[in-house]
Amino acid sequence: MPNQPLRPAPGDMAPGDIAPAEFAAAGHALIDWIARYLADAEQYPVLSRASPGQVRSALPAAPPALGEPFAAVMADVERVILPGVTHWNHPGFFAYFAISGSAPGILAELLTAALNINGMLWRTSPAATELEQLTLDWLRQLLGLQSGWFGMITDTASISTLLALAAARETQPALAVRSRGLAGRPDLPPLRIYTSAESHSSIDRAAITLGFGHDNVVHVPVDNDFRMRPDALANLITEDRAHGRLPIAAIATVGTTGSGSIDPVPAIATVCEREKIWLHVDGAYGGTAAVVPELQQVLAGVDRADSLVINPHKWLFTPIDCSALYTRRPDVLRRAFSLVPEYLSTTAPDEVVNYMDYGIQLGHRFRALKLWSVIRVFGALGLADRIRYHCALAREFAAWVDAASAWRRVAPVHFSLVCFRYNPGDPDLNDEETDALNAAILERVNASGEVYLSHTKLAGRYTIRLAIGNVRTELRHVATAWRLLQDAAATVRR
Ligand SMILES: *Cc1c(COP(=O)(O)O)cnc(C)c1O
Repeated sequence: MPNQPLRPAPGDMAPGDIAPAEFAAAGHALIDWIARYLADAEQYPVLSRASPGQVRSALPAAPPALGEPFAAVMADVERVILPGVTHWNHPGFFAYFAISGSAPGILAELLTAALNINGMLWRTSPAATELEQLTLDWLRQLLGLQSGWFGMITDTASISTLLALAAARETQPALAVRSRGLAGRPDLPPLRIYTSAESHSSIDRAAITLGFGHDNVVHVPVDNDFRMRPDALANLITEDRAHGRLPIAAIATVGTTGSGSIDPVPAIATVCEREKIWLHVDGAYGGTAAVVPELQQVLAGVDRADSLVINPHKWLFTPIDCSALYTRRPDVLRRAFSLVPEYLSTTAPDEVVNYMDYGIQLGHRFRALKLWSVIRVFGALGLADRIRYHCALAREFAAWVDAASAWRRVAPVHFSLVCFRYNPGDPDLNDEETDALNAAILERVNASGEVYLSHTKLAGRYTIRLAIGNVRTELRHVATAWRLLQDAAATVRR
């Protein structure tokens, strides 16, 4: 390149990032915007009314050649993005499991982005590794679990469970799955994992991904309250062994996604101990309730498990993503995944944890900062108060359903989730017609923009779910949902 002076690309911007003063101004404006948005989230329709393609077609198809000010980005956020947002921050969000990214979590997430740490090794940021270990030990204490658990933060419960099941498979080193794989191995028996018919699809996906095969996920029958039947688990394991199949792990759920049911972990642990198989507990939603001292028994027996997942991004006011994976057998998890290429080998002392050794990803986001910040700013009592309040709101709503003759509650309320169904007991309506009626009611309620609820199937029947988990939800929002449901039922029946 003869005589070409080194100079930045054309445009207004100097080389390097935007200037510190400009950054600070945009940042202050953004924080003001966020504060207003969080306070006003209720003003938006909770469920986005965007039609397919609306957001994309409102934006340029090609990137800009010249740099734009950040204010131009924010203008498009308001004009194009917000109408395409379903507002999980809306206090009338009752669908799936409602969540909250609380203020301390949001601020810490900003700081995480600014520090921009990759905590793959202890030495790539000792603070990231050590704060993660400390924060997960704090969370363990809040949950009332014994010491001796190794903790690691992942992005989602799906990945936490996948890692746990990979470790479970590694308890059988004679299979040599790590080195030889599963494909083309007529020498191997089918490897079986057991979970209830009500468990989360992430378990099936983990089994698919890990090569167990979907057919080897055994869905154990549940009782009338949607809890796994330990006697059925024991029988299915015995039957599998008789057919030469190899039981590897059982997954119990504390707070199932459909109904919030709690599998009997102590009895399941007894079966797993006798059969010498790994026990993983999926407490992604319900496990969090154990931060409330009088609800701590929901995790009874979990100290006998090999691994546990809890999602602070679900019901512990931490912005997505933050899932806590615990295991009592970190050596096995490490055996499943550790692989150290030369460029990552360190002479760090043995006592340090290099999180890259315990999972699939090399990169490791500094998520501990936001969870630590949430725990510190709310405190143990503040966290317990908020969860206790959500449970009280759910019980209140359940009482309204129970008192209404045309509505039926279809599952016990253990947490902040209520499952119910419109069923006026009209002899002219069969089950399918009642299902359709409920679907029509739900659609009408969700079109209001005031609340958003979702549905599931329980015992084969269409069931409406109201899940409380937003930090700004109050009794009046739950009352609005109930009024809209009753109005919709009256209209739809006409
Ligand atoms: C939400 C949920 C999951 C999945 O959580 P992700 O973090 O989205 O993967 C798994 N199990 C249960 C019981 C859940 O409620």
